[in-house]
Amino acid sequence: MDLRAKELDRNDALAGYRKEFYIPDGKIYMDGNSLGLLSKRAERTLYELLDSWKVLGIDGWTEGERPWFYLSEQIGEMMAPLVGGMKGEVIATGSTTTNLHQMTSTFYKPKGKKTKILADELNFPSDIYALKSQLQLKGYDPAEHFIQVKSADGRYLRETDIIDAMTDEVALIVLPAVLYRSGQVLDMERLVEAANERSIPIGFDLCHSIGAIEHSLHDWGADFAFWCTYKHLNGGPGSVGGLFIHERHFGKTPGLAGWFGSNKQSQFDMNHTMDVAGDAGAYQIGTPHLLSLAPLIGSLEMLQEVGINQIRSKSFQLTDYMMELIREHLSDYGFTIGNPDNESRGAHLLLEHPEAARICKALKADGVVPDFRAPNGIRLAPVALYNSFVDVWQTVEKLRIIMEEKRYEQFENKRGVVA
Ligand SMILES: *Cc1c(COP(=O)(O)O)cnc(C)c1O
Repeated sequence: MDLRAKELDRNDALAGYRKEFYIPDGKIYMDGNSLGLLSKRAERTLYELLDSWKVLGIDGWTEGERPWFYLSEQIGEMMAPLVGGMKGEVIATGSTTTNLHQMTSTFYKPKGKKTKILADELNFPSDIYALKSQLQLKGYDPAEHFIQVKSADGRYLRETDIIDAMTDEVALIVLPAVLYRSGQVLDMERLVEAANERSIPIGFDLCHSIGAIEHSLHDWGADFAFWCTYKHLNGGPGSVGGLFIHERHFGKTPGLAGWFGSNKQSQFDMNHTMDVAGDAGAYQIGTPHLLSLAPLIGSLEMLQEVGINQIRSKSFQLTDYMMELIREHLSDYGFTIGNPDNESRGAHLLLEHPEAARICKALKADGVVPDFRAPNGIRLAPVALYNSFVDVWQTVEKLRIIMEEKRYEQFENKRGVVA
């Protein structure tokens, strides 16, 4: 066992949080960027919600310790510090993809020759499908009106390339904050500044950045952002997503309206003229998915307690240590490191290898849970709240043995249905 890993664990101020989580038995979990683990606090707040239903029935909306009617706003408030949002700018609602549809329906206002949507060629497919379908809804052919900024190497984007593409034909910009494959953190502040100068609305997908790095969306002046909560926020499979809208847009009419976007005082007047909420709450559509909100209360409590600065700092140390071990022990086996080697690295690493699919299977067979991304990527995410430096050491050591003994050859080089 590596002494240095043990030493790093001894000096880790966050080491105590590991025991707050259910770590799958006998596993080294390196997939928190796809699905964060269950914590005891999240489990508790989910059971508390079930209990309020059991005990209160319909009265749970307004009674009990956490009346359901206000929960989306309260969880929004708990997420606000993670994105740099001010009071009222953040709401828990929808999913990444539905929130992107909501934001595009609200901000994409093509006019004259200003019709194009600017995105990139490395973003997650769902974002691309959503944006293209929004163009089609408005009668524009994506082949002509959808611009995807190119990447020179298939891994990274250059901010200058994105800014150069912000022409006067662009009506909306949507970009990821952290790229889901390479983990590159885009310079959001710089991109927002350029978009604001050109009066083009700009929004970010924070799926891989929320709970992993700091954001100052309000101060930067971003128009909107949206994210899921089942990755670094540990909200559980399919947990309710989040949305940020800058306060300068409060009072705007949501593109997709529904009664839960109403002013809370008047919602139950049941008028056919909507009294739109004066903050981010306006972008809710229907009844909140309470059972999928509840785990977030416990999970976010923990993130609040620790603070995103400490999380980022340990996460960076973990990935730094992992890269050092990879260079030291895996250099003979044909891997390419596909993530940035500096501060523009998010919270996961990407190892590229032609046999990646079956190397992942061999890792799983050996108790390490990685994540495969077609065609050739192995993502490894040591998570600040529940992974140790010893986990990192063991992962690289197991990988070394798999490569050394060619153990991956027993498996087919093909991905599973969910990878
Ligand atoms: C995880 C992820 C999604 C998933 O969207 P859902 O609507 O939650 O299914 C979308 N975009 C990015 C960038 C992601 O990382």
